[in-house]
Amino acid sequence: MKTWLLSVVLAFASISALAPLGHTPVPLALKNYQCRKCAVVVQSSSTPSSYGCPAGSSHQWQNLGDVGWENYQCRKCATHVMNERQPSSYGCPAGSSHQWQHLSRVGDKTYQCRKCGLAIRCKSYPSSYGCPAGSSHQWNKLSN
Ligand SMILES: [Zn+2]
Ligand SMILES: [Zn+2]
Ligand SMILES: [Zn+2]
Repeated sequence: MKTWLLSVVLAFASISALAPLGHTPVPLALKNYQCRKCAVVVQSSSTPSSYGCPAGSSHQWQNLGDVGWENYQCRKCATHVMNERQPSSYGCPAGSSHQWQHLSRVGDKTYQCRKCGLAIRCKSYPSSYGCPAGSSHQWNKLSN
């Protein structure tokens, strides 16, 4: 009787571990890599190939941090990433260090800034600080 109960508990535990709760799960083993020369961002579990940078010869990859649930944008180069925490400030394509601004947690609402054109998926109204096009973002809600 006890063995039977234990196997039911274990089966339930393994099902809950597999079933995603809420939103589409972000594969957290991925990291955001950005090339400081051509500014492209790719999500990868290891450093991407350096061949064929459009800005000339080799990509120069910078590891920005783990892919996650927070929207950040650099007010200098306008790069947007979904990161677990404040991304690394090294290697801004616009020169020296990124200046990251936290915008909002990732969610199912879409907002676009009418000044810089950035469109992001947010849980709540994004911060207006640090628009790359100057002073404050002006967010429009595009969808729920
Ligand atoms: Zn590149
Ligand atoms: Zn930057
Ligand atoms: Zn903006």
